[in-house]
Amino acid sequence: MSEPIVPKRTLEHAPVLFPRDANGELLVGGQRLSVLAERVGQTPFYAYDRGLLTARVAELRAALPQGIELHYAMKANPMPALVQWMAGLVDGIDVASAGELQVALNAGADPHEISFAGPGKRDIELGQAVAAGVLVNVETARELKVLAAASQRLGLPARVALRVNPDFELKGSGMRMSGGPKQFGIDAEAVPEVLTQVGALAGDGLAFEGFHLFAGSQNLKAEAICEAQQKSYELALRLADSAPAPVKFLNLGGGFGIPYFPGETRLNLASISDNLAALQQRARADLAQAKLVIELGRYFVGEAGVYVSRVVDRKISRGQVFLVADGGLHHHLSASGNFGQVVRKNYPASVEPQGRNETATEPASIVGPLCTPLDLLADRMEMARGDVGDLTVVYQSGAYGRSASPEGFLGHPSAAEVIV
Ligand SMILES: *Cc1c(COP(=O)(O)O)cnc(C)c1O
Repeated sequence: MSEPIVPKRTLEHAPVLFPRDANGELLVGGQRLSVLAERVGQTPFYAYDRGLLTARVAELRAALPQGIELHYAMKANPMPALVQWMAGLVDGIDVASAGELQVALNAGADPHEISFAGPGKRDIELGQAVAAGVLVNVETARELKVLAAASQRLGLPARVALRVNPDFELKGSGMRMSGGPKQFGIDAEAVPEVLTQVGALAGDGLAFEGFHLFAGSQNLKAEAICEAQQKSYELALRLADSAPAPVKFLNLGGGFGIPYFPGETRLNLASISDNLAALQQRARADLAQAKLVIELGRYFVGEAGVYVSRVVDRKISRGQVFLVADGGLHHHLSASGNFGQVVRKNYPASVEPQGRNETATEPASIVGPLCTPLDLLADRMEMARGDVGDLTVVYQSGAYGRSASPEGFLGHPSAAEVIV
């Protein structure tokens, strides 16, 4: 018997969160895209939707147990106005440089709820952190001495948590940041010894507050996230035995992913919520003073942003349609597939015809103006038939967009950024 012929199903992108008006025009922050483009005054630009940011934080709070603290990891999107908006919604901001620290402080974030992680913190940055009164997630024993000296100099406590490089990893992550030898954190097996040093420096102003574990990023498998959170908790509990003071802060990391590529679906929060509730219950008994924190970057902001460029040329090469846009890899490295992807896949994207009612669709590629074949925003996607002057939109662009791109490459103008 032969197998029945199953029609080949093409995988689809998860639906984007931006609505359209009655005429089918895309709305960003409630504004028609054509109007927004004119308001911005240039393409290319990034636009972030305040309503979607607010809704995402509210959904997460509603889904997760009460008392779990939400931190925004601002390296995902450091635009000052966006950080300010997020600071009003979340419980804390995680920064990864003194530059980000400055933005977070200017945004009005409470210094007590700012934490500073990252390898290679320079002495001056550690001094800035102590002066600001933020929590430093210490990555090596060297930082402890520098922090104690800053504390002495300033007459202020140096608040520290130890960032731990766990002996496990977050399975199925876009980027792995723990397990095995890593530049991040202190190897779990070395932590008890470092905790002794923290205790010895308590008289010099070092104030121990807890642990930070971050196992990985861009994960869409709830079970893998739950497993990493559980293992992180167990590890922190073991390490707390050697701590010089009670654990007040336990950052279990994040890693919540968003659907970028065809076939991917949104993360299921229900099991993550159950898991966190169970850990919270245990923490009440084991680590009575500890706040449980998760830190998320792209999950908060990724789906709330679009990258918009304009078609400069339409060309057909050996039967394939290329829409050549004024934006590309230099503003949006991630969407070009060159920021951590192994096999290039398309972000969700669309062509938005301007000034005419276009009903035809066609397979087309959106490319940028750079002289490299890597400058590809959409590879042979079925989209509205595009022409010169039309707008192109890349969705899922709120995280690791402008700030993670080589803007100077080839000397084109920079992208504008607005929050609407
Ligand atoms: C990059 C990073 C994050 C944010 O990761 P997302 O995938 O954007 O959620 C959080 N914490 C640390 C320590 C990071 O390095």
